[in-house]
Amino acid sequence: MALKVVLLSHSPDPERAVATAARNCYSPRDIETIDENWTEDEVEKMVTRVRDAGHLSTFEHTMFTFGVSGVSRALTHQLVRHRHMSYEQKSQRYIKIKGQFPFVAPPSIAARPEIAAEFGALMEQISEFYQRALEAGTPPEDARFALPNAAETQIVITANARALLDFFTLRTCNNAQWEIRELSFAMLRLAKKAAPSLFVRAGATCVRGYCNEPNGPDCPRYIAVKNPVAARRRTALAAS
Ligand SMILES: Cc1cc2nc3c(=O)[nH]c(=O)nc-3n(C[C@H](O)[C@H](O)[C@H](O)COP(=O)(O)OP(=O)(O)OC[C@H]3O[C@@H](n4cnc5c(N)ncnc54)[C@H](O)[C@@H]3O)c2cc1C
Repeated sequence: MALKVVLLSHSPDPERAVATAARNCYSPRDIETIDENWTEDEVEKMVTRVRDAGHLSTFEHTMFTFGVSGVSRALTHQLVRHRHMSYEQKSQRYIKIKGQFPFVAPPSIAARPEIAAEFGALMEQISEFYQRALEAGTPPEDARFALPNAAETQIVITANARALLDFFTLRTCNNAQWEIRELSFAMLRLAKKAAPSLFVRAGATCVRGYCNEPNGPDCPRYIAVKNPVAARRRTALAAS
């Protein structure tokens, strides 16, 4: 199954929630009226003010929940390193997989027919062992020790907008691993649709004009952001 990402739910009116939290810092209004009488323009201005000032604790007052399937355990192992997001992953302890376990084949393997065939055969072999182990009475929590990083999984992620910004910074970067980068871009697209002004400048640091990675100066994306004309020339030269 291919990567699938859905935005399951989010706080009502996320931009306004951020603007209201920020207004509490700057306005003499009492708490009963702090969320009253917003115009869209005022919300936008307040979000822009705190976003551009880096007053990002205000972004913590709004939550997004994503459902993700068709990803590998190799991906989720990286994902759960992001400590300010919350997760529920399909359990390999409580769910016995019937038949061949679904798995993710990296494009670099899929593109090499001989390696792809060997990879497929290996997954079958592991699956056969897994089924035999279950039939012999091994509990799923132990039989799963044979399952590889490639085993497909499904995960629910909940995060506030600030945690998402951090995640997008690290994982949409060209230095991030391809699968988590795809996930990160898919989540960013959904978040941007739901709350454009919160996520308008979200992404790898190059989107904001700098890069601290050692290979930054050679990264095609960084070059494209810093100097789009030079990047277009390079592409044209490479194609000629
Ligand atoms: C390109 C890339 C390559 C990577 N390679 C490896 C690798 O080879 N090996 C490996 O193990 N990991 C690797 N990682 C994972 C990386 O080390 C981080 O664990 C992961 O990116 C989460 O980042 P974080 O800790 O900043 O995020 P979060 O856990 O989301 O934390 C966000 C921010 O909160 C603050 N924070 C969170 N917890 C604490 C704390 N306990 N104390 C103080 N401040 C805290 C920090 O400011 C942190 O940046 C890699 C990540 C990337 C993007």
